[in-house]
Amino acid sequence: MDTNQLEQTLVLIKPDALKNSVTGFILSQLSEYHTGSRFAAAKIVNVNRMLAEEHYSEHKGKAFFEALLDYIMGKAHYPDDNKWKRRVIAIVYLGQNTQKNIRRIAGPTNPHEARDEQPGCLRALGTVVPVFDADGKIIDNRMDNLVHASASSEDAEREIKLWFVPHDIPPLMRAYPTEICQTHYYYKDAEVFETYEPDSSLILAPGDVAWETDLKILQQCIKNEPANGTLNSVVVKYLINKNVQD
Ligand code: ADP
Ligand code: MG
Repeated sequence: MDTNQLEQTLVLIKPDALKNSVTGFILSQLSEYHTGSRFAAAKIVNVNRMLAEEHYSEHKGKAFFEALLDYIMGKAHYPDDNKWKRRVIAIVYLGQNTQKNIRRIAGPTNPHEARDEQPGCLRALGTVVPVFDADGKIIDNRMDNLVHASASSEDAEREIKLWFVPHDIPPLMRAYPTEICQTHYYYKDAEVFETYEPDSSLILAPGDVAWETDLKILQQCIKNEPANGTLNSVVVKYLINKNVQD
């Protein structure tokens, strides 16, 4: 197999899909038989705010942003008495034209448009929910569209590196360069350290396999140089499922 010909994409089965028990249907629609793509990695994620904000950073500041965070964090579909059910299934698929093929099966972003334009697509099963301000006035909509699928190769690389560490993906299925970490990195209160600080989290240790681009950003942050990406975009994958989220 010439893996250079193959693309990767990130798919998220979102909380509304889990709540409505359509996970099996979605996985069938995205199976190798329909898409020619294979699983490269999969995990159950209790999405924390940092991951939600990084994943949807392009929408920061928009009226629907907070509702979008509540949605992907599972708060919208699983209120406080069912917190433990808040999760997303994150999957990396690998195949030819996988981004285009999976986006086509997912369909248009807005479920109303999905039903009009592409009946039968996954997002045609979704719904649009009004978002209210504190006074009860409708200020925007939340689009509960069941699945996320990377829209381009740039998005796929950014998103896969947000949700997965290299060890989550079998070495022969990894699409992006990795490097062996040579030092310890600890994280606390939006800062990175090379030695342990009380209450900090160990992110990486010598010998760990990391995304090459992540190590570059960590080194830039340590030296207080302008970095190629945010510190949060690096540490977030190491904090996944580490704590119970509110
Ligand atoms: P897609 O998921 O199709 O790639 P985007 O990347 O533009 O779409 O947006 C990410 C998610 O943010 C969408 O799936 C949807 O849930 C939400 N979203 C995007 N645009 C809007 C909007 N105008 N109003 C409400 N929610 C939106
Ligand atoms: Mg998108």
